[in-house]
Amino acid sequence: MLPYGKQTIDVDDIAAVLEAINETMLTTGPTVARFEQAFCQQVNASHAVAVSSGTAALHAAADTLNLEDGDEVIVPAITFVATANAVVYCGGKPVFADVDANSLLMDCDDVERKITARTRAIIAVDYAGQPCDYLRLRQIADRHGLVLIADGCHSLGGSYAGSAVGSLADMTCFSFHPVKAITTCEGGMVSTNDASLALQIREFRSHGIDNTPDQRQRSNRYHYDMQSLGFNYRISDLQCALGLSQLKKLDQFIAQRTEIADRYQDMIDSLPGCDLLQSHADRKSAHHLMVLKLDPHSTSVDRDELFQHLRESGIGVNVHYRPVYQHSWYRETFGVIESCPVADAAWRQIISLPIFPEMPAGEVDRVLNIVRTFMHTMDSQPGVTCEGNGKPATNTGNRISASSMFTA
Ligand SMILES: *Cc1c(COP(=O)(O)O)cnc(C)c1O
Repeated sequence: MLPYGKQTIDVDDIAAVLEAINETMLTTGPTVARFEQAFCQQVNASHAVAVSSGTAALHAAADTLNLEDGDEVIVPAITFVATANAVVYCGGKPVFADVDANSLLMDCDDVERKITARTRAIIAVDYAGQPCDYLRLRQIADRHGLVLIADGCHSLGGSYAGSAVGSLADMTCFSFHPVKAITTCEGGMVSTNDASLALQIREFRSHGIDNTPDQRQRSNRYHYDMQSLGFNYRISDLQCALGLSQLKKLDQFIAQRTEIADRYQDMIDSLPGCDLLQSHADRKSAHHLMVLKLDPHSTSVDRDELFQHLRESGIGVNVHYRPVYQHSWYRETFGVIESCPVADAAWRQIISLPIFPEMPAGEVDRVLNIVRTFMHTMDSQPGVTCEGNGKPATNTGNRISASSMFTA
């Protein structure tokens, strides 16, 4: 099975881990700080706090909001559940903004519409690796006195108007899960330019305690004070050694992903009934996901049929994501949430195709050939109609080509 995403581990990574396991300190040691410093340089932020997962990063960032009962945080409808869960962990209410139909990024107009007197923050998600419109989001946040958090779990290595993801919001959260840009097996990071936020997150990662065992050791004191309610969200030195080694290759990984993405882009015009996501010229995507979007006006092929067929053909496709409010827990907890029509329609049309740094370019052709053959076969069956014109969906050639919609 060709996976939709996977890690790249080389001999340097293995050597780094072997070295780290022989160190005196396996956790809360100097390698954590070294990883944080290298990460700061990479994303051009003044502070970075490494944690045990991307979810822990989001939880830590949301905790700094000090939400009160009834406070709202705006999140996009289409994201991994962890984005919205972080708000709920902190006693807040996630309010879902719809997404743009072409890029599936959070629709800034809808963000503005969803702001109320109780709104405290926005969590933007750089879906599929493309940064959101941070200039616009900053203006909205400033005008309404909101905190701007970026969920950059897809976009490490990306940039907006020349500025790296990690420096574009008040806090940016990253994940180092194996499918993400770099891996520490499990792991995450929060970057910020605000020293006081960084300190709060550092405390939150270790039970809300005001000093570290290392600091106590060096000052010959046993005293510590728990000043807030935190968690054990620490990451080990072993994982950070791997992270440091991986970080050195981030630029190369993104270049490899970009090559694969370009190949998909070059071939998409020959695939009737499908589009790729719109990309913006002022942004550099980290190409975390390669999302194919079926156009119901020019094909009768159903996403779930295509999914089944690709899986049966050994292509490890996936779907990112069902709108968060459709999940049982959200429905049971918050009742029927006012839905986001674009997200509700779009999620039924999307499928994530394989993309990862070491994917051979020839595999792109193979994947798209399987898609093309299946779509052609299905759409040529008599009596099958597509939503657009009620006529059999054949390639009429008059569909607006995908590439003409792209600005970059
Ligand atoms: C992966 C991911 C997370 C969670 O990261 P973990 O490291 O798996 O906890 C959160 N948000 C988004 C958008 C993600 O893709």
